Amino acid sequence: MKTNWDLSVFYKSFDDPAFAADLAALPGRIDALTAMIDAPADDEIAKLRGIVEAFEALNEASEPLYMMVMLTLSTDAQNPAANAAQTPLNRAGMAFAQMESRLSRYLASLDNLDALIEGDEVLRARGFALREYAETARHQIDPALEGPVLKMQLSGGKQFSELRGKLDATVLVDYRGEQIPLSAARAKAYDADPAVRRDAYEAELAAYKKIELPMSYCLNAIKAEACTMAELKGYKDVLDMTLCESRLTARTLDAMWTAIREALPQLRGYFKAKAKLLGHKNGLPFYDLFAPVGSCARTYTIEEARDMLLSVFGRFCPEIADMMKTAFEDGWIDVYPHAGKRGGAFCSGCYSKNISRVMTNFTGSLSDISTLAHELGHAFNNRMLCRVPSMMTETPMPLAETASTFNETVLAAEVRKGASRDEELMLLDASLTENTQVMVDIYSRFLFEQKVVDAQADHALSVDELKEAMLWAQEQSYGDGLDPEVRHPYMWACKSHYYSTGRHFYNFPYAFGGLFARGLYARYEQEGASFVPVYCDLLSRFGSDTIEHITASVGIDVTTPDFWRSAVASVVAEAERFAELVG
Ligand SMILES: [Zn+2]
Repeated sequence: MKTNWDLSVFYKSFDDPAFAADLAALPGRIDALTAMIDAPADDEIAKLRGIVEAFEALNEASEPLYMMVMLTLSTDAQNPAANAAQTPLNRAGMAFAQMESRLSRYLASLDNLDALIEGDEVLRARGFALREYAETARHQIDPALEGPVLKMQLSGGKQFSELRGKLDATVLVDYRGEQIPLSAARAKAYDADPAVRRDAYEAELAAYKKIELPMSYCLNAIKAEACTMAELKGYKDVLDMTLCESRLTARTLDAMWTAIREALPQLRGYFKAKAKLLGHKNGLPFYDLFAPVGSCARTYTIEEARDMLLSVFGRFCPEIADMMKTAFEDGWIDVYPHAGKRGGAFCSGCYSKNISRVMTNFTGSLSDISTLAHELGHAFNNRMLCRVPSMMTETPMPLAETASTFNETVLAAEVRKGASRDEELMLLDASLTENTQVMVDIYSRFLFEQKVVDAQADHALSVDELKEAMLWAQEQSYGDGLDPEVRHPYMWACKSHYYSTGRHFYNFPYAFGGLFARGLYARYEQEGASFVPVYCDLLSRFGSDTIEHITASVGIDVTTPDFWRSAVASVVAEAERFAELVG
């Protein structure tokens, strides 16, 4: 087994002459494609086929460059060659986006686009992507304004977004007389000692006080800019823009919220049971949301983790297990933490080679094995997407966490079998902590963001108004599950998701992905092995249509609350079992 990932499949090293040559050729390839789009043609079908071929070839040629640079930086942040390559790659990214705008306008200008697509096999196989490009032309900024507006964004919203990152990274928290970073203070929410959790929470809130004013300006500026962009692009509002970009309708989003809202009383029951277990009388204080419960002393080697995954997933779907075996043998995974390597975990796919690379910081806990299952779920999704043309692999945010969450669910169900009471409590709590974040906390974030966006038409919200709006949103979602005296009025400063200039309402996709995966798992439990090929086929089509159409094709109606209720029910059952164990 290899425990460092192998990047030599992309380039032998940064000294490989092919790396410099491919990087230097990239701008020319984008220019050539742009010229193809602009060139007049007698035979539009031939022109379109040429564009599609060049587009996909360009994607596949740039993939190894991005993989090499991005993956290197994630395990070796200071690598000089990878850092030096970032500027030309970012510039190529901008040129690519402008080429895509041209492509949109060209496709929208063809009155007979549908007939052209239907008249050719290659185009038909990419029909959704081509029609979507044409569709987005209706929501483009006036070409005369596009350049200046994008430039203004660089000095506007993007700067506020960066400022937010700097404030978050540099503010120091006075924790028990010691100055520690915000991330370190927040990590103490998982500490086994209740006094540590409470002190860290109080220190964290005091630290936000120091940066609340600039943070409030960042948030208002970014949301005001979003309102302007939605208006310039001809959308009804920011949510309309976000839903359209997510290939989702408002009806589906409402159906999901309806099922979540209905389950709030039972989900609050979990918080109350956890509060009781930890000796609180008035609901769970915010600082104990992530408190560890139960215990699992066992640790695992990476070989044991691999064996567990291969055995669990071999029973679910041999194709997943085979891919996992390849991942461990062929150096797909960078396993252990080390100096210079970033925290967390991710997966990145390379379509042209039908492989992925996974980064984790494995220390041997059960939760680390769950992380591996999660990231290898992304890798399996990438593998399934290789069944369709690369132009059809763009997966919208709400579906992006399906295969990963699904894998976590498969693993958790297996691990829970034969667990002791203490282990079961720990496993249930881990699952519920995550799932209530996805449902209850995400619901509060959605309500909050809606309020901030709506307010912009009237005025920018003051710090006090933002805090009040956050507490109001927490009351709507957590209700009596949380101690009303100990909530978190600064969650708007805490979560970076509110400050993305390109993605707004960057909250509901988590609820969608988490619940969608659980709904699929409920179907697997009912249908057994016959559901597996349906599942694989579904993953392959994540970039091939709107979310409603893709899900309808496997008999799932996401537009009404029923499917969502079935997904929510499995979390509610866990909450009830948890309360029962707590007694
Ligand atoms: Zn993920």
